[in-house]
Amino acid sequence: MSDRSKIEERFNELRGEEVVYAIHRQDRTFLPTRKHCPLCPTRPDGRAGGRAGADTEIPVPAFEIAVFDNRFPAFQAPRGAAEVVVYTDDHDASFGTLAPERAEALMWVWRHRYEELGARADVQYVFIFENRGVEVGVTLHHPHGQIYGYPFVPPVPTLELAADARLGGCAPCSLLAGELEDGRRVLHQNEAVVAYVPRAARWPYEAHVTMREHRASLLECDPQELRMLAGALQALVRGYDALFDRPFPYVMAIHQAPTTTRAAGDPPALAAGAAAAGGHLHVEFYPPLRTAEKLKYPAGSEQGAGTFISDVLPEESAAELREAIVRGT
Ligand SMILES: [Zn+2]
Ligand SMILES: [Zn+2]
Ligand SMILES: [Zn+2]
Repeated sequence: MSDRSKIEERFNELRGEEVVYAIHRQDRTFLPTRKHCPLCPTRPDGRAGGRAGADTEIPVPAFEIAVFDNRFPAFQAPRGAAEVVVYTDDHDASFGTLAPERAEALMWVWRHRYEELGARADVQYVFIFENRGVEVGVTLHHPHGQIYGYPFVPPVPTLELAADARLGGCAPCSLLAGELEDGRRVLHQNEAVVAYVPRAARWPYEAHVTMREHRASLLECDPQELRMLAGALQALVRGYDALFDRPFPYVMAIHQAPTTTRAAGDPPALAAGAAAAGGHLHVEFYPPLRTAEKLKYPAGSEQGAGTFISDVLPEESAAELREAIVRGT
């Protein structure tokens, strides 16, 4: 691997999974000052948040939502894709503080990227995510998320498909029914979406935001559902920030159906049916905090044996989080 721009996949036999080597990423911008933020708009006068005389990644003086190829990709054609989605030109905003219309527009952007990347023959799984906070390795503070188009179906979605097979139907549908029936871990709900701490959460404040109806992906959601999804996600994130009265770090992971089942060039067809493709749109949040200052480290048992040991019961963290969501609204 003398060519540092080359991306290499190697199969890890012991884990039965791919590992991706993208060594050029070592050189990527690391926590620049706001003056040098590459995700701010390019402001010729170099006002706060812009760079005098130098372009940022976004060569316009103002924007709403911007999507572009990651300059330091972990995947690229003809083996996948890596994109950056900038939520706003306001450096100091966050997903939770976006205007509701902007958050709703973001759902449509995600949907469009899922459709376009998912239609590519070299993309088998479209993964939309956000890392927030230095605790989860964020290198740029400007509010943004990312999209990876994996050239294979990665392990976590594969495990979820195995759960469908084990339960003899859609796992998120059946888990959601259980949470609604129990009720103790439900955090927030509207007509289309339910947020809850899962019964067997691995992280103290883990939460899942699940479509009530079976929707394989954002493409199957109607406009009302997309609006409700944005609303529920924002309510949860504002609740997280209210929980310890500080910006709350998390990984936000959007799980949808793989995009493998279609022939190349076909649109991600609704007709293929969710049952055939597997997958039920839901958003998982993995926050690393267990108290305002203490981090939960995946350590010996978690890394070496794969078993999470938690010192917080999901019912208890759900009660705290539910109150925080009320405070955050
Ligand atoms: Zn910025
Ligand atoms: Zn389902
Ligand atoms: Zn999931």
